[in-house]
Amino acid sequence: MSCDKAIANQAAPGNGFARCMAGSGGGAACSMDMIAPGLGCVVAPNPGPLTGPGTNSYVLGRTRLCVIDPGPDDARHLAALLAAIAGRQVSHVLVSHAHLDHSALAPTLAAATGAPVCAFGAAGAGRSALMQRLAAQGLGDMGEGVDAAFAPDQTLRDGQVLQTGAGPLQVMHTPGHLGDHLAFGWGGALFVGDTVMGWSSSIVSPPDGDMGQYMASLARLAAVGATVLYSGHGAPVADPAARIAALTAHRRGREAAILAALTPGPATAAALTAAIYHDTAQSLWGAAQRNVLAHLIDLADRNLVTANPAPGHDARFVLA
Ligand SMILES: [Zn+2]
Repeated sequence: MSCDKAIANQAAPGNGFARCMAGSGGGAACSMDMIAPGLGCVVAPNPGPLTGPGTNSYVLGRTRLCVIDPGPDDARHLAALLAAIAGRQVSHVLVSHAHLDHSALAPTLAAATGAPVCAFGAAGAGRSALMQRLAAQGLGDMGEGVDAAFAPDQTLRDGQVLQTGAGPLQVMHTPGHLGDHLAFGWGGALFVGDTVMGWSSSIVSPPDGDMGQYMASLARLAAVGATVLYSGHGAPVADPAARIAALTAHRRGREAAILAALTPGPATAAALTAAIYHDTAQSLWGAAQRNVLAHLIDLADRNLVTANPAPGHDARFVLA
């Protein structure tokens, strides 16, 4: 599978981006696609409705490498990454956020390469005060997909600059999809994890995700003015401003649809989901309902709706 050879080839015709600059070292065949000079991508074998073609594990550098998002705990993916690394030094194993499809392989890859795992913090780090309060009120513990055992060797903070073999990497805290979510700036490019994807909107599932934080992170990423976004899943985003604007408008549209659906009277998140997502496959309604609840909590926080009892899947929401 490819992070998107077509786009890479379009973006830089004649640059000769190809599979794996390095040999496979006698192990698994190298399945890394070079998507920019000094940047390779190995797609994990975990395709699905929420992961697209699979998780993108980025291998950054030529002689001294960083890995961004090791991916799921999968022996085939570990073998593919080690083949791509091909014995070269790894300075950092960076994790954008503690979801299993991004972080679970981190300790194994760190042990295999000797590089530290670097991330914002342990699972649950960076959770907003609002979500901490709602979780304490019973909104639910960490949801499925969260890597509850995740614990980085080194914690990163917003504004930190990492010196890597591929030049400086700027650390940005971009909570919303998950409280601990980081983006990494590299020249004009941004590694954005699950905050921006070209093929799908992002799940924001309370109390792990926070819609108010997510919208603020989108605005912050837009302000960077990046020339390309490298996402956690799917192809590179070649027009960041347009894609971030579209995602922002999509969220504002959902918010308007929720407020309109509440005009006749109170409703639960489930009822609103059925009304708003009627043209979406029912298999995705569970994820959709979590997004709707995220919007409702944000609207309640902005005093535009009220919830009875406290915001949650059983609460009835009414226009304030
Ligand atoms: Zn995620």
